[in-house]
Amino acid sequence: MKPTVINNLEIAKKQESLTGKITAKGCDRLIEGIDRTKQDDLDINYQLSGHASTFHLPSLHLTVSASLPLVCQRCLEAMQLDVTLSFDYVISEEEPASFDGDDDVDWIEASREMNLNELIEDELLIAIPLAPTHDHACKPLKLESGEKHNPFAALKDLVK
Ligand SMILES: [Zn+2]
Repeated sequence: MKPTVINNLEIAKKQESLTGKITAKGCDRLIEGIDRTKQDDLDINYQLSGHASTFHLPSLHLTVSASLPLVCQRCLEAMQLDVTLSFDYVISEEEPASFDGDDDVDWIEASREMNLNELIEDELLIAIPLAPTHDHACKPLKLESGEKHNPFAALKDLVK
């Protein structure tokens, strides 16, 4: 799948909008963390819209809704995580001077070739918990040898 490359400043200034879908093939890094047997269930939809001056600068509003097949880190069974995320980014050549860690808005450097897939993948990687677990009670824990390998298990040890 080809990545969606956009001119981010132009979309913001012209207040254009676009929607799209990303499949497992389009995001190598995200695949690392999901249940590989169910990677076809990975479903990512996005909507991007440009705004000329919402934050006194050209900006982009991004909404991502995704269904992520993960492995529960408590019972090691499959689980699905549905997330809906939204972001605002101001687009300019240089980081605005007044930009002091406002949590609601991020800055992205103006680019004629911004890889939108990569941005969405980055945001999803941040949104996925390191050790996802079922909301409800899990089935009794299976303690068999040959447990499914899960890259999050290694990450979990690292943050301890
Ligand atoms: Zn579970």
